Amino acid sequence: MHTAKIANKQIVILGGGTAGWMTANLMAVKWQKSGIKITLVESPAIGPIGVGEGSTPQLKSFFDQLGIAEREWMPACHATYKNGIRFNGWSSRKGFESYFHPFASRIDAFSAPALFYNSIHRRNGLNVDCHPDRFYLSAKLAEQHKTPIPEHNFPFPIGYGYHFDAHLLGQFLSTKAKALGVQHIQAKVVNVGMQTNGDIAHLQLDNGSKISADIFVDCSGFNGVLIQKALKVPFVSFKENLFNDSAVAIPSPVSQPLRSQTISTTMKYGWAWDIPLTNRVGNGYVYSAEHCTAEQAEIELRKKLNLLDSDVEARHLKMKIGRVEKHWHRNCLAVGLSQGFIEPLEATALHFVQETIERFIEVNEKNHFSDNNQDEFNQQLNQRFEGIRDYIVAHYRLSSRDDTDYWRENSANPNISNQLKHIVKGWMTGEDISQIIQQAKIQSYYPPFSWLCILAGYGIFPKQLTDVPQDNPAHKYDLDYVDDFIQRSSLNFKDHKTFLDLHL
Ligand SMILES: Cc1cc2nc3c(=O)[nH]c(=O)nc-3n(C[C@H](O)[C@H](O)[C@H](O)COP(=O)(O)OP(=O)(O)OC[C@H]3O[C@@H](n4cnc5c(N)ncnc54)[C@H](O)[C@@H]3O)c2cc1C
Repeated sequence: MHTAKIANKQIVILGGGTAGWMTANLMAVKWQKSGIKITLVESPAIGPIGVGEGSTPQLKSFFDQLGIAEREWMPACHATYKNGIRFNGWSSRKGFESYFHPFASRIDAFSAPALFYNSIHRRNGLNVDCHPDRFYLSAKLAEQHKTPIPEHNFPFPIGYGYHFDAHLLGQFLSTKAKALGVQHIQAKVVNVGMQTNGDIAHLQLDNGSKISADIFVDCSGFNGVLIQKALKVPFVSFKENLFNDSAVAIPSPVSQPLRSQTISTTMKYGWAWDIPLTNRVGNGYVYSAEHCTAEQAEIELRKKLNLLDSDVEARHLKMKIGRVEKHWHRNCLAVGLSQGFIEPLEATALHFVQETIERFIEVNEKNHFSDNNQDEFNQQLNQRFEGIRDYIVAHYRLSSRDDTDYWRENSANPNISNQLKHIVKGWMTGEDISQIIQQAKIQSYYPPFSWLCILAGYGIFPKQLTDVPQDNPAHKYDLDYVDDFIQRSSLNFKDHKTFLDLHL
């Protein structure tokens, strides 16, 4: 048990990617005043991965905790607003070739119940509309290239995330952490010294010095220098569930009008992201190296971007998909890619980073820096990893694209969890999706509306359509009213670019 006084604590963070600097800032803002000393070590020769440019709404609360306004960090990182993600080409069913996955907003309570209701009737074969796009204000804002920030007299805040330049965000956070007193050492860790009880004792740096600490935070990326290599915590691969293990990224010129959504489009052997920043568009193709070569992937992406003859450089990346068995082991906490990664389809990695640090801080404050709750902490994070994984797997398993072995193997993949089988079965037998998710206690990973968006958005309905007379209870909701409500609400939001120019 590690129960030394808070005031004497030394924390060393290994890694200066987004995870390392997010950890440094959150720990500094919470603990620096208690006298805890925080040092971050990173090797400029290795450098951060430099991708990861889309967020969930969680990131807003990260900046709020640091007291940093959007006006300050967004322009510094060429950041834009994100209403959600549009999925193109994931379903080949007529009328369902594209759908939008929004973030949760309170105002949805006025329009989304109609979608939930209609989805039950639609699955029973009645001809009522339940394409998710029609029922969410965020989908309309994204379609109209609008910001998610309403005019001051509109009483409903809208859930939103961000797009940003990962390198610039790292630099921005590093300046902030140093201003909060975090010590920064640029050196490579060449060896890890262990205590006799199996804890980490010190890091041996390539400049000849040694650095000791009470707590080590492993933010060394896919290298997993401390958690995987030094402490030998086993890695649980998700390779059987998720085939993608590689990516190629190519920037393209800034797009007009400035979009306020991420676009995820299926490719022959994976999918491509399109993330609009204020100075460029970030593009990448996430694919399975078992199904296509890096060169094939680059050519397919260049064709999509109309950059076949351009000499703009492509960056090729490898991804290790899965998670460590324990995120907090002995005196080491793993945060970021060192703790695991579930591929970037729903841009959840930084959300996970933030959640891991916040929970670690909370548990340590509650338990006076003992390791009493390590098992529970690890179990909760593992369940979360698996919950998010199942939602991502659903995109591939349920896709009706079938033009390559990659897509055919994905939709026939038998390696899906019992939880996911249960959800799909419940949907196909006409059950209420909210009840299924709540009974499975997985709403905190992805809530019912997210599942509804993918299942209804793909157009997966078990029965053939029959027309219903207008006086049938299936027509409980007046969809003209829903359209009108969303259209009128959208008038309270400015064009994305205009808003950024005016306010940031
Ligand atoms: C293709 C792709 C797309 C992604 N898209 C998204 C997205 O849209 N949204 C999202 O939230 N996330 C996304 N991610 C994940 C995101 O990139 C990472 O979660 C995030 O960048 C954090 O990375 P990290 O800090 O853990 O690791 P890294 O950025 O790899 O940083 C590792 C750090 O450790 C240091 N280091 C390593 N070994 C040593 C050593 N021996 N000595 C000293 N220093 C060392 C390196 O110098 C570096 O500073 C994506 C990832 C990939 C691969």
